[in-house]
Amino acid sequence: MEKHICIACGTQYPEADAPPAACPICTDPRQYIPLDGQQWTTLAELAAGHQNEVREEGELVGIGTTPSFAIGQRALLVPFGDSNLLWDCISLIDDATVAEVKRRGGLAGIAVSHPHYYSGMVEWAHRFDCPIHLHAADAEWVMRPDPAVRPWDGDQQALGHGLTLIRGGGHFPGGTVLHRAGGAGSLLTGDIIQVIPDRSHVGFMWSYPNLVPLPDAEVQRIAAAVEPFPYDAIYGAWWQTVIPTDAKAIVRRSAARYTRALSGALP
Ligand SMILES: [Zn+2]
Ligand SMILES: [Zn+2]
Repeated sequence: MEKHICIACGTQYPEADAPPAACPICTDPRQYIPLDGQQWTTLAELAAGHQNEVREEGELVGIGTTPSFAIGQRALLVPFGDSNLLWDCISLIDDATVAEVKRRGGLAGIAVSHPHYYSGMVEWAHRFDCPIHLHAADAEWVMRPDPAVRPWDGDQQALGHGLTLIRGGGHFPGGTVLHRAGGAGSLLTGDIIQVIPDRSHVGFMWSYPNLVPLPDAEVQRIAAAVEPFPYDAIYGAWWQTVIPTDAKAIVRRSAARYTRALSGALP
């Protein structure tokens, strides 16, 4: 019996004799099956050829797998009282990572932006004995159901210690960003609001790998959902996708650029 992990998206499945027939996360048109077909690994196999890097990322601490695995996102450790919240998740969890996270205060919870980063969240929750906060609108995408998963509903969910989950929707109906109060404030956005290479704008898409846009009304809804919150920085989903300052103006002008582009004017 093995808990199989999809090599393309990093999602871990429940214990079974054989891998699932397909990975619904990857057959969904927001992801894709690689040209060489559906392939599976296990946590032990993954750990044999990969390790996690834990290092500073802006004012936070990032945790990412090297060499890069699946979608390649890194998670973030966000201070939460005398512990941490893990924002987004990755597939690999090993003893070295557990020891390093415990040295930095451990985990009091995990919150994930959307199903592409559910990855190894149940494995992580079991190692740290903590809950997982996911938006209920995306419950059908939980491939390894577990009592640690605590769905929340509505438009906002305060977690305490200055952290608030905000439902943006867009890329997925329950697409979530995390607001962190303190200082000028920051948003952790996964790829619900995607930081683009030169950091001058952000992107809002239905499918990033397949380049399918959202309707303008959805783009404006995401921008409106974060507008009431004070923030100056945005942390995207991958290493170094950080907008250190002026992020609020960048979100506003990016949303306006989508309106122009989607109404037929070149931006
Ligand atoms: Zn997959
Ligand atoms: Zn995604």
